[in-house]
Amino acid sequence: MTTLAGESLNSCAGCEVALLNLGETLLDLLPQIQIVHLPVLVDNKYYGQLGQSSRLTLPKAVVGLVSGGIRNTEHLELLHAMREQVDVLVALGTCAATGGLPALANLTPEKSITEFAFTQAPSLAVQGPNAPMPQPKNTSIPEILPQCLPLSAHVKVDMVIPGCPPHPEWIAEGILSLLEGRPAAFPSRSVCSSCPTWRKGTPGNGSEGNRPVRRMLEQPSYDPEAPLSSMQCLLEQGFMCLGPVTLAGCGGRTGSPKCIAARTPCRGCQGPALSSSIPSVEYVAALTAAGINGATMPDKPGYISRFNAACDALLQLRESTRA
Ligand code: SF4
Ligand code: SF4
Ligand code: SF4
Repeated sequence: MTTLAGESLNSCAGCEVALLNLGETLLDLLPQIQIVHLPVLVDNKYYGQLGQSSRLTLPKAVVGLVSGGIRNTEHLELLHAMREQVDVLVALGTCAATGGLPALANLTPEKSITEFAFTQAPSLAVQGPNAPMPQPKNTSIPEILPQCLPLSAHVKVDMVIPGCPPHPEWIAEGILSLLEGRPAAFPSRSVCSSCPTWRKGTPGNGSEGNRPVRRMLEQPSYDPEAPLSSMQCLLEQGFMCLGPVTLAGCGGRTGSPKCIAARTPCRGCQGPALSSSIPSVEYVAALTAAGINGATMPDKPGYISRFNAACDALLQLRESTRA
């Protein structure tokens, strides 16, 4: 029997819902695993069952599944407690792996975010200099950290299950591979590799060779009654589809990429394809190859680094030169 613990940190809980969406596969796995800590399923107190302990402790387990990145001191404490107690630490989902959407906050200095949230946000009852600012040092409120970072920025991570949230098939594959003592067979290619749309393959010429980016306010061209394979690649149609630099697998082992199946461009939620060392640079090359003028891209860092702002090499470089 393999013991399993799970914890969600700077997480929207979508990864935990994906875990529950294992459905019958979860029932098949249950005879082989013993869940010792998983707030979404199993109640286990952090400070002893009666609150008698003054130190946060988690039970020992062979496998630890952790979703969400690290944004505050509480997340960090829980992550270290998990790392101490488990043999194999698994980063579950894009936030844990690369920071995910919450790491977009790294594009703005933490001080500005805090000041806006507590003194300027339109929803505040009291705005301006009289608005109460949080005083975490004097209370039990965890302190916000300067950046939202993935687990691997703080501790050793043994496995990454990709996705936002991961497709249940990849969660099952990750757990099964650990139970069977074999490497996990996760996707390694880009979303484009599993996209059924048709491609012309070469950019147009003349004005088409330097087209501006098309926003999703415009309608792509496709026949809603016809299969996906009859729709031209959305990047070739001029839309910012991040398929070329995004890891495949959101549709599971055999399904089409989910957004493409819904006739919208890929936003990059699986995180960077493994072959993409600097996705932002590679994406500009993909735009150019499709005859699109990358300079017309709106909100460049926010768009290209939507799911990996914590890890994007260019953004990190910008941070280091700022310091
Ligand atoms: S990876 Fe996606 S689903 Fe999972 S916690 Fe982050 S935002 Fe939510
Ligand atoms: S760029 Fe987008 S639409 Fe085109 S092949 Fe790749 S995933 Fe499909
Ligand atoms: S198509 Fe892209 S953004 Fe959409 S679910 Fe798949 S990986 Fe995520």
